[in-house]
Amino acid sequence: MTRWRFAAATDTGLVRDANEDALSVDLTLAIVADGMGGHAAGEIASSLAVEVITRRFHEDETVEGLYAAVEAANVAVLADAAANPERFGMGTTVTAIALTEDVAGIVSPTLINVGDSRVYQLRDGALRQLSDDHSVAEEWVRMGRLTPEEAAVHPRRHQLTRVLGMDETVEIDVVSVVAQPGDRLLLCSDGLSNELSPEQLVQLASPPMPLEDAVDKLVAAAKESGGRDNISVVLVEFDDVVATATPVKRTVSTAPPALAPPRSARRRSSRFTWRVAIAGLVLIGVVAGFVAIMHWYAYSTYYLADDAGFIAVYQGQPNGVLWYPPHKVLDTTFPSRNLRPADQRLLAATISEPSLASALSYAAYLNRAWHLTRTVPSATTTTTTSVPPTTTTTVRAVTTTTKAKG
Ligand code: MG
Repeated sequence: MTRWRFAAATDTGLVRDANEDALSVDLTLAIVADGMGGHAAGEIASSLAVEVITRRFHEDETVEGLYAAVEAANVAVLADAAANPERFGMGTTVTAIALTEDVAGIVSPTLINVGDSRVYQLRDGALRQLSDDHSVAEEWVRMGRLTPEEAAVHPRRHQLTRVLGMDETVEIDVVSVVAQPGDRLLLCSDGLSNELSPEQLVQLASPPMPLEDAVDKLVAAAKESGGRDNISVVLVEFDDVVATATPVKRTVSTAPPALAPPRSARRRSSRFTWRVAIAGLVLIGVVAGFVAIMHWYAYSTYYLADDAGFIAVYQGQPNGVLWYPPHKVLDTTFPSRNLRPADQRLLAATISEPSLASALSYAAYLNRAWHLTRTVPSATTTTTTSVPPTTTTTVRAVTTTTKAKG
């Protein structure tokens, strides 16, 4: 059976008016919380978190029960702030070591942490920090942007990135601790770790210093160093340890399922959206291409036709294409009634031309052809009586115009 002995102390310090830290320790759970928020709200947040976690963990002393207890504490702090607007913005760190039982009945220590309160392990005169600080500066150290030495004096070392009571979602570090008989674990708020060096912690907290004396000396030393914040210490020493259960090291997010749909559902819906978007773009492309080709085909040609007795130039297909009707682009001053009869028949059937220039040129030619035939001398008329049938048109044209003149 894994067992520990324990001692704890908390102190307001020399500067603060009130103690916003809270702690609790018993045979299976040690916990320290450091509250924040005006109008005594920090005190309420930390004590509420400690009370809820302690009660809920003892109902289910497993790893799952432990982080469910922390999740419940987060909800409780949020609910209290919502019910008491003057406590808006209150929150608390929480760090705890619990003796959790796995499915095989093996009991072993598990650490949970949110914020910058700390858990240290003391073994053979050496000190090792087991918890990660959730502060901006320490996150930057883990990202490689700062060295630990730079973080120790960085202005954002006190700005927390995780805290209970700020949001419905909170990420909780859950880590198995490998312990052996004689090991001590030191839990503390930053009022201790900011005032004392690692060497002082080892000197004051290590065996053979009795646990009760150790916590008193740690608090006294922090006050001697300035006591600028509330100081809380819990020290446990393992008397007996059995084989460790399957180790756990993970960060659990308390995001409620209603707020975060299953990953597979999200992936399916995003894939569906992409497919619809691509199909839509392809369809728009096909329609736009078809419209462009129809427009080009409809207006790629010109033709000559009669309009109120004069030759006019039109652009488009004579009968139109789909919703693109032909339209008149030019009126000429060439009377269509003066054209040679064959040309008049051609004009009635419309005369296609590839461009506006060629259409105009052909209209001018038709008009000129009529003038030429009209000015042919009468002798020519006589001689043309014997020309082959192909030129008969010209003769008749002359006759026609002559009659018109008369
Ligand atoms: Mg503090």
